[in-house]
Amino acid sequence: MNPTLMDTEIAQERRLVTEIPGPRSQALLAKKTEAVSSGVGVGLPVFIERAGGGVLVDVDGNHLIDMGSGIAVTTVGNANPMVADAVASQARDLTHTCFMVTPYEGYVDVCEALNRLTPGDHAKRSALFNSGAEAVENAVKIARYATKRPAVVVLEHGYHGRTNLTMALTAKNMPYKEGFGPFAPEIYRVPMSYPFRDGPHGGKEVALWATTKIDKEVGPHNVAAIVVEPIQGEGGFVVPAPGFIAGLAEFAREHGIVFIADEIQSGFCRTGDWFAMEHEGVVPDMITTAKGIAGGMPLAAVTGRAELMDAVHAGGLGGTYGGNPVACAAGLAAIRWMEDNDACALARTIESVMMPRLKAMQENFPQIGDIRGRGAMLAIELVEPGTTNANAALAAALNKHCHSHGVVTLTAGTYGNVFRFLPPLTMPMPLLEEALSVLESGFEACV
Ligand SMILES: *Cc1c(COP(=O)(O)O)cnc(C)c1O
Repeated sequence: MNPTLMDTEIAQERRLVTEIPGPRSQALLAKKTEAVSSGVGVGLPVFIERAGGGVLVDVDGNHLIDMGSGIAVTTVGNANPMVADAVASQARDLTHTCFMVTPYEGYVDVCEALNRLTPGDHAKRSALFNSGAEAVENAVKIARYATKRPAVVVLEHGYHGRTNLTMALTAKNMPYKEGFGPFAPEIYRVPMSYPFRDGPHGGKEVALWATTKIDKEVGPHNVAAIVVEPIQGEGGFVVPAPGFIAGLAEFAREHGIVFIADEIQSGFCRTGDWFAMEHEGVVPDMITTAKGIAGGMPLAAVTGRAELMDAVHAGGLGGTYGGNPVACAAGLAAIRWMEDNDACALARTIESVMMPRLKAMQENFPQIGDIRGRGAMLAIELVEPGTTNANAALAAALNKHCHSHGVVTLTAGTYGNVFRFLPPLTMPMPLLEEALSVLESGFEACV
């Protein structure tokens, strides 16, 4: 085990001292109901006080195994000491100027790091924002400005955020879009390669369906950008078949369309490479990042070809808080931690522990129709045995079982039948094994 994984005072064990949720969490949930909009739901109503390594500690003193990383955010571990020190130190020196008013070096350093780490060795520039949705919006703004074209193409099952433009880019209606329209115009959705559901059709073939649709229904000369997640996040960790991403990228190149990789969930060593696009052998024109970038501090970025990123007039991009000094300090510390600890190798180790266990479970439980993902971004899709009929009820039951047994898990997928795993890369292997055993006992109890 990597010695830095022990950099937390929190006991690395699953320890339940009350029911889940415990009495203090239940009291806080009642308080939440009175104070917080009910539109902001919670997946598991345990209130968390401290976290580190692979453990979340709730207000009742329960130690829960964290298989979600706050949705792929605390990749370097929660309250990572390097990040915490950088935040504390930066907060004492300077908390804000607004980079567009009077700049500071940390912002530039984050952009340099992104330009260096993202795929491709062409000249790049970056711009920083607060959230993933904001990064995607800005990537689209830049692509439209640079191409002088209106249309944006996205994929079935895609997820890009909850603002008006990014809701329109997102595929799934409930809960993300229901009742929130009208949506931004000039968004076109094309087929996504979904190997488990595509039958005999390979990646190249599905790419041809997608590009034919663009050709016939939109007109490629009207398209500013194609936005893709190289591994879909909320869509259920769908890994497209080989040739699909490359096929779309090829079409984009031929027609002067900006090819944008949304790596907000898949980036920063999550998949066993710095960025999932590296698996596809495709260099995107622009890449959006957020989530795992800064150890839990709000930071997001667009990184792209210099000629695109420099096309926009000065003042056209920005925001009051984008690239805040404290968030930048956290980002630089998180990136340094990933480099110092070979975080990509940590993600691959997690895969090597999880994959055989999940495959063994599949032998016993044919409800596991598909196992997929890369690195520490893995999922199982639950079905009625021998079919592709979604079994969302089982996903919900398993989720409940894991929660009540002290493992924080997440579901996903268009059909709500995907169980996804996003452990922090600081997860001790015995705890990972234990989380899988809880999942296995969940199958025994639920099917
Ligand atoms: C989470 C996510 C977003 C939105 O990020 P926010 O920070 O929640 O706005 C966009 N794209 C992908 C792929 C995501 O996973």
